[in-house]
Amino acid sequence: MRPRGFGGVLLGAPQLALTAQCETVADVQAAVTYAVQNELGDCLRLDLQRMNSVQLDLDARIARVGGGATWRDLYRATQPFCMLTPGGRDTTAGIAETALSAHSGWLERKLGLAADALISVELVTAAGELLIADETRNTDLFWALHGGGANFGVASALTFRLTQVPTTTLAVLTWPAAAAPTVIRTYRDLIETGAPSSLGGGVLLVNDPRPVVRAIAVYLGGPEETAAVFAPMFALSPETTMLRETPYANLQPALGPGSWKACSERYFPAFPDPEVSALCDDAHGMGAGAWLALWPRGVRRGDWPVVYRDASWVVEGYGVSLEDPCLQAGQARLVAEYGPRNYERLARVKCRYDPENVFRVSRNVEPAWCSWPATIAPRR
Ligand SMILES: Cc1cc2nc3c(=O)[nH]c(=O)nc-3n(C[C@H](O)[C@H](O)[C@H](O)COP(=O)(O)OP(=O)(O)OC[C@H]3O[C@@H](n4cnc5c(N)ncnc54)[C@H](O)[C@@H]3O)c2cc1C
Repeated sequence: MRPRGFGGVLLGAPQLALTAQCETVADVQAAVTYAVQNELGDCLRLDLQRMNSVQLDLDARIARVGGGATWRDLYRATQPFCMLTPGGRDTTAGIAETALSAHSGWLERKLGLAADALISVELVTAAGELLIADETRNTDLFWALHGGGANFGVASALTFRLTQVPTTTLAVLTWPAAAAPTVIRTYRDLIETGAPSSLGGGVLLVNDPRPVVRAIAVYLGGPEETAAVFAPMFALSPETTMLRETPYANLQPALGPGSWKACSERYFPAFPDPEVSALCDDAHGMGAGAWLALWPRGVRRGDWPVVYRDASWVVEGYGVSLEDPCLQAGQARLVAEYGPRNYERLARVKCRYDPENVFRVSRNVEPAWCSWPATIAPRR
């Protein structure tokens, strides 16, 4: 099994045999070219852990990170200046994957996704070419890199906008699992009846070591304001409460040990009472260390290819399967996730930059061989 957050890129299916440890963009280009020439797609892993540099331009409020940098690497550098790019929930995760797959994060209701803060991506394509994708260069690719994941190449560096965030507060309220239906309904109503967008967080069902339900507030502001905004949750008489100013970089450690790497997810346009009951049922009998979480989603910015763009809620889980039995497999599933229009557009971009489908590990968008317009030609 691959270690967490190793910052790697897999080409093809996971029948691993070789690892290329890359330190420079030239290493990445050489590894990709070697893999393509020798048809090693199904057994080469690129380890980018050493490409974890972080360069800040504080005046311009810009951060450029290496393709193997983690959120922890970035926050260590930006925290002294009270600046950040909103990342995912797992600070040990790679920045590239979170941004390119448009993963959700703690403060997405207010600050958007990491993908929304992208200024440019330096990408090594299947042809071994280094391209820059931004608002003026390779704009079709830049669009696709806001949710299309690892389908188009290896990001050797990414540049993001930084946001000034003076204070964040974390509140964690805990009840026995029996309170879960009430806690979830109250949280849902709080979000759906106009809680300020500065309020992030969600509801967590976890065995730690006994089954409990937790309401988490991550708030862009101080503890007093947080307590006021989260008052409906405090009113449910939690067994324990924690409320303190917590730097964004320390949110995850403050929430305790455990894996924040979601392994499955399911999206919902709304979260009516029957879904609340179903979520509580799913939590019964969860093993130690497993968790289920309900996160509110922010309003999507731009026209990026984010999966389930219009969903208001997402349930994520670790150690629990959330597979939707109605979802078809393969490309039909991706069409449902991205929506037909964005899926087709992604497939055209794929066709242009990776026509032989060298990068095909996760959420693989197959090249749109049949539907090229005559004006779009593959780059090689
Ligand atoms: C279905 C699912 C949904 C998730 N949703 C969220 C979420 O919404 N919010 C959240 O915080 N966490 C989420 N996670 C958890 C976590 O953020 C991801 O697992 C994490 O992004 C993995 O990245 P990594 O680089 O640490 O892992 P790695 O195992 O190192 O990389 C995983 C994959 O990312 C790609 N990749 C990595 N680096 C690059 C690069 N430089 N260029 C191109 N591709 C690259 C490769 O395909 C690689 O195989 C989710 C996980 C899963 C499985």
